[in-house]
Amino acid sequence: MSILNDIERVLVSETEIEAICQRLGKQITEDYADKERPILLGLLKGCVPFMADLSKHIQLPIEVEYMDVSSYHGNITSSGDVKIRKDMNTSVMGRDILIAEDIVDTGKTLDTIVKLLTHRGARSVEVVTLLDKPAGRVIPFTPKYVGTVIPKEFVVGYGLDYNELYRNIPFVGVLKPEIYKK
Ligand code: 5GP
Ligand code: MG
Ligand code: MG
Repeated sequence: MSILNDIERVLVSETEIEAICQRLGKQITEDYADKERPILLGLLKGCVPFMADLSKHIQLPIEVEYMDVSSYHGNITSSGDVKIRKDMNTSVMGRDILIAEDIVDTGKTLDTIVKLLTHRGARSVEVVTLLDKPAGRVIPFTPKYVGTVIPKEFVVGYGLDYNELYRNIPFVGVLKPEIYKK
């Protein structure tokens, strides 16, 4: 039984994802050329495939860090209550931070984390996201680097889960509604 049977359609293909990573990596390489040891900070677990592919195209000495934050609890709607399950391992004081995220939906997660890192003394805090779902915004938030804008649909794959499944699909797809309605 293949997990691909649960996918209604492909929204962002592997080829498109690779082109996005190349484009964003080149842009970030240019923009961060003068910064000293910027930190690419991934938000677990959804960032993992995107961050791995994107970082190969950032041709600069960067540090890599992770934080595990959660606002979803196995459901398809955000609770808006952002919890830090695992913090990063280094101080952000005076550092340039680029947060890598899978998707911006309500904007609450990133708004919370950007404010937190700024409060902790980061020199700059920007966001790179594979997907942006502007129709889902509950509070204003504009990520600096966006892979692609998607409609207000629940997507899975390439790091994005439903109930902890589907993260290992190599593309981004729309889940069949019967999967989360049953
Ligand atoms: P926000 O705080 O912007 O509402 O949500 C950010 C987080 O919600 C994302 O990092 C992701 O984990 C989850 N999320 C939002 N939209 C989707 C979606 O369409 N599919 C999946 N799988 N997760 C989503
Ligand atoms: Mg995420
Ligand atoms: Mg999730």
